[in-house]
Amino acid sequence: MTRALKFVFACGLSLLACATTVASGELPDPNSAGFVEKLYRLDCGRSLANDESVWTPGENQGRSIEFSSTCWLAKRGKDWLIWDTGVPEATFKDPKGWSTLPKLIVYHLDKTLTDQLAEIGLKPADVTHVAISHTHGDHIGNVGLFPDARVLIQRAEHEWIYGDNAPNENVKQLMALARKLMGNPRHIQLVDGDFDVFGDGSVTLVSTPGHTPGSQSMLVRLKQSGFIILSGDVVHLEENFAKNRVPSLNTDKEASIASMERIRQMIKRYQAKFFINHDKSESSGLKLLPAFYD
Ligand SMILES: [Zn+2]
Repeated sequence: MTRALKFVFACGLSLLACATTVASGELPDPNSAGFVEKLYRLDCGRSLANDESVWTPGENQGRSIEFSSTCWLAKRGKDWLIWDTGVPEATFKDPKGWSTLPKLIVYHLDKTLTDQLAEIGLKPADVTHVAISHTHGDHIGNVGLFPDARVLIQRAEHEWIYGDNAPNENVKQLMALARKLMGNPRHIQLVDGDFDVFGDGSVTLVSTPGHTPGSQSMLVRLKQSGFIILSGDVVHLEENFAKNRVPSLNTDKEASIASMERIRQMIKRYQAKFFINHDKSESSGLKLLPAFYD
């Protein structure tokens, strides 16, 4: 048996109508994995932060920085899977922007997810799967647009935002916002570790904790482009990846370093491209919907 899938139904918990739990311990075989047909990058916002050193401890103190926010949409047969949902649509063209931590960072949204989906003839209801890298507001701002989709999130992440172990006020604030933005999706699937979403190795959720307790990245295979790893927030900047630098906001420094190393190993094993969500200079060089990777 190549994949050990475990299904546990946990119904009747106070905050979850009925959650499915899945676990699968294996990454796909690079030679026999299936393919998705198309992968689109969506513009899911941009942010301005007033102190880069929060992300690059020991360097760039007091320097401002702009980050990109990126969502990805994969097509496989009749299924459409969106990876992260970006800054809330209510922020669209609001000159004041929106914030998760007002003293530190402000987000702006120049295009809505709904309008970008419409550019390729889709409605939010056509999206069948919503995979969440982690529960910071700039990644889950629009989960509510997809009430009928299957929402895939690491169990550790889900338990964390409903837990009571925030080490400081900032994290407490982020967790409260996460609960609000996540809402109560009808079909939530709690994932333990790595998970082969379609059972053919075309899309794999990869456990990369550290930024938050249940952070994940995603491995996708395309016919022409080969394997692509979407970072989530396992790393924010190319330079951090090169220097093994860990943002001070991360919940676990050692786990963050181990997760970056895991990604390096995967890049080698899959000859994969690695796209870093928030690295603005890298993101701006990538294809943008309606263009796509195939
Ligand atoms: Zn982020």
